[in-house]
Amino acid sequence: MKISMTNKRVALITGAGSGIGRASAIAFAKTGSKVIVVDLDPLGGNKTVQEIAAIGGEAIFMKADVSSVSQVEKLIQKVIRRYGRLDYAHNNAGIEGEISKTADCSEENWDKVIRTNLKSVWICMKYEIRQMVCQKFGIIVNTSSVYGLVGSERGMPAYVASKHGIIGLTKTAAIEYAKSGIRVNAICAGPVNTPFRKRLVSKSNEDLTRYPLERVAEPQEIANAAVWLCSDETPYITGSTLVIDGGLTAR
Ligand code: NAD
Repeated sequence: MKISMTNKRVALITGAGSGIGRASAIAFAKTGSKVIVVDLDPLGGNKTVQEIAAIGGEAIFMKADVSSVSQVEKLIQKVIRRYGRLDYAHNNAGIEGEISKTADCSEENWDKVIRTNLKSVWICMKYEIRQMVCQKFGIIVNTSSVYGLVGSERGMPAYVASKHGIIGLTKTAAIEYAKSGIRVNAICAGPVNTPFRKRLVSKSNEDLTRYPLERVAEPQEIANAAVWLCSDETPYITGSTLVIDGGLTAR
């Protein structure tokens, strides 16, 4: 994808050891950004770094649990020590959790999903924004989901709540920091061909005919949108939710 972006900027992508995060890391690297690949899984993270190196890009793996305040604080300090700035952040790491309806959802599952998917986005933005305010520049993309817009019959109450919460956080940060040169947007993806989706489908099947396009998206299709939202082509887009769902929520 050819879009105009200032070269040699620094991009941090969470959950970049797999799926959408890996595709996003590769897409940012293709624009000339230096990429920080963040994940819990060093194997997946280092594979992403290798794939970026193979196409001539620049990337480094930094292990962090994005649901931990102390780990994210240290992560951002490390990024600033190494690169001196942070321009783009794609807060994307997430889990599906257990499949169980609202009345059967365990407290443990609720807490884990909310901590991993929602609290993590607040923690990441907390430290990313502090640096971006100092620079008077920064662009953040948060990965929500179509389940940030509608409910699900698939037994994912905590997941749906976490993804709705991300949209509220995104809008709030966008309003709070608009005058500080920071834009914040969310992406609401429908089904995407990743290990996450394979796990989900193995636990609870899904009827693709509900989607007008009747197919899942490839991770690259979501990554392209994340890069576009951070590009020089979108200076007036902030506080928005970009829906990439094969037409599901148009019904
Ligand atoms: P994935 O499972 O392929 O990748 C997620 C990555 O996040 C993994 O590498 C995992 O190790 C990492 N991760 C999980 N918890 C972490 C933590 N606490 N700290 C750091 N890293 C952590 O999943 P994916 O499909 O690429 O999903 C990425 C995001 O997209 C998630 O937020 C998911 O909710 C969202 N999403 C996915 C789909 C889909 O159908 N795949 C649809 C809509 C939204």
